[in-house]
Amino acid sequence: MTTVHRLYELQELDWEIDRSQTQLTSVKEQIEDDSELVRIRDEIEEQQNTVRQLHQKQSTQTLELQAIEDRVKALDSRLYGGSVKSPREMESGFSEIQIAKEQAQQAEDQLLAMMVELEEAEKRMARSSEELVRMDEERGKSLVTLGEERTTLLKQLEGLTKDRGEKVSHADPEHLVRYEKVRQARQGYAVARVERGMCQGCRLTLPTHEMQRLRSGSEPIQCNSCARILYLS
Ligand SMILES: [Zn+2]
Repeated sequence: MTTVHRLYELQELDWEIDRSQTQLTSVKEQIEDDSELVRIRDEIEEQQNTVRQLHQKQSTQTLELQAIEDRVKALDSRLYGGSVKSPREMESGFSEIQIAKEQAQQAEDQLLAMMVELEEAEKRMARSSEELVRMDEERGKSLVTLGEERTTLLKQLEGLTKDRGEKVSHADPEHLVRYEKVRQARQGYAVARVERGMCQGCRLTLPTHEMQRLRSGSEPIQCNSCARILYLS
């Protein structure tokens, strides 16, 4: 096996490690991310506040209505109880009752509107609570799957890292340093295949003498254009 072939295989292994690492990162992020649940819990909390406030408003309104109705009753009994005698007093009593009755009607209408509003708010809250139960269940299931995926990926990475250690131990340290340097400079793509006389890393056609050096030499040659280590398979 030529040195470059070894490096090429190392790169394939590194790519696999990178892929597994990316997957592992994504799985870990998904495990940690419970933003959807947080969002629905916040929503429910807000809805609970709304319902509480509407309940309070409704009881205040009920008391207010009660007070007006009591006033109407009191006015009624005063007016028809025989204590009011003069027509002027009677007249003012009637108009007072009239006003109080209108106020009672208004308060009743408001109370009715509040009840409708409260009912809707409670329905919304119930829907969100159902949604939370559903999401909680789903999250539980997906956490199991994600946990399994994480275990598999960790095992996979452990194996790959071991393989890498073995490969590296057989490689020429100097070539390895060069490989790592190019790998870093070229975003992980350090060894490029040469196909039909062309570097597959940068698509540049290699000069004839470079091709000859590549065919004969066992030392790694780097592309003049992209600096990748050239691999003639
Ligand atoms: Zn190149």
